[in-house]
Amino acid sequence: MPERKNDIKPVIGLEIHVELLTETKAFCSCPASFGGEPNTNTCPVCRGEPGALPVLNRHAVELAVMAGLALGCSIHEISAFDRKNYYYPDLPKGYQITQYFHPVCTGGAVPITLPDGRQKKIGLERIHIEEDAGKLTHRGDETLVDYNRAGVPLIEIVSLPEIESAEEAKAYVESIRRILSFIGVSDCKMNEGSMRADVNVSVIVDGDHGERSEIKNVNSINYIGKAVEYEIKRQSEMLLSGERPRRETRRYNEDKSTTEHIRYKEETVDYRYFPEPNIPQIRLTGEDIDHIRGNMRIMPEEAERYIEEKFGFSEYAARRLTSSYEIYEYFLEAAGMSEYPNHTANLIIGEIITKTEKPREYLAPSKTAAISDMFGRYEITSVSAKKLVSICSVTGESPVSVAEKEKMMMLTDPDTLKNMVEEAVKESPKSIEDYIKGKDTALKQIMGVVMRKSGGRAEPRKTMAILEEYAGKLRNGAK
Ligand SMILES: [Zn+2]
Repeated sequence: MPERKNDIKPVIGLEIHVELLTETKAFCSCPASFGGEPNTNTCPVCRGEPGALPVLNRHAVELAVMAGLALGCSIHEISAFDRKNYYYPDLPKGYQITQYFHPVCTGGAVPITLPDGRQKKIGLERIHIEEDAGKLTHRGDETLVDYNRAGVPLIEIVSLPEIESAEEAKAYVESIRRILSFIGVSDCKMNEGSMRADVNVSVIVDGDHGERSEIKNVNSINYIGKAVEYEIKRQSEMLLSGERPRRETRRYNEDKSTTEHIRYKEETVDYRYFPEPNIPQIRLTGEDIDHIRGNMRIMPEEAERYIEEKFGFSEYAARRLTSSYEIYEYFLEAAGMSEYPNHTANLIIGEIITKTEKPREYLAPSKTAAISDMFGRYEITSVSAKKLVSICSVTGESPVSVAEKEKMMMLTDPDTLKNMVEEAVKESPKSIEDYIKGKDTALKQIMGVVMRKSGGRAEPRKTMAILEEYAGKLRNGAK
């Protein structure tokens, strides 16, 4: 018997499906948008009617190439489509158009950062373009089918089995989500199914490599982590007790945080792949690829570094301001119009992106800049700044006029403040006497009087400075 050290090494690979952000479907001109009344966004091509001919969507290819460039892949000048043959009610043609023999991208790697700060790169095998299937909804004994999603273009990103834990799997998916949504390849909305993962897990126990299971269509980063954890535990317990896991397909059960058997892999069909005869090869010249590269947005990591360096913000703030491209662009525009970009950043992080994913529709950048500047110049309090964001986002009014109308503007005029200070001193003989005798804290009571007289609108810093100067003169004069 070999010695058992119970050394468990997980081997994890992910296949991530990402729907591409095209206006229309992969091979017809139906809208590719999410939702809509069932079966309204369909035509003979995506319903799989006989004789209907597919025409490739150029934008889908461009987005797939962008994804490949962003993840450091080799982009192939020649790639082609194939048919994956199987029957399922969500697939009206009886085959899926995909890229099996000649994918558009191979190689590349995804950088990940783990919760403890450790960094690693997960290698990629390939990225290929394919079409999505329709959607089945099961209701009691009935199953309804919606072909709106049939033919929506997606890319499948296949990793090498280099992921070693649930944490790494989660960080990997998060990294892809961040990069591809930032550069506009996909909206990567896992809750709407535009990004989902097939998770392959096997374990090596004391050098003995078991068989892998594939957990299909997991649709949240959290579930991916839990599915991986559950599989590592299930398979290593089997191997430790002398049982052998079998190659199988499983599904994630959200309610129990477990995975469940669907079928053994030995039973699965041969897809009989062959080249799709109705779509010519994709031919990309070096120039085409350079052109696509030239039109790409900045990568999120670069955007984050740019904000840190240009504005001297913390890593946290830079990360929040680059949580989407829309936010990044919005911040740059608002900060460009403001004298106080740090206040602009705080308003965006604290008051705007907590309420909306579309800051530009919520509040014009010029208004955010105007509010930051009023606060920066001590014309309004931080409470008023927050109020202005919510009022102006609803009414669309100018922040300055709302601040005036709502009496939010602080009194900052030196003469006005000086008059108020003098009156307050007159009304507080005891306090000023205490101050002259050396009790510095007596000024607080006088400040209180100024605040009451001004209805809380005397700007505290300027008022205090004027009061200190005025009371100081009285104290020196008494000596
Ligand atoms: Zn169609």
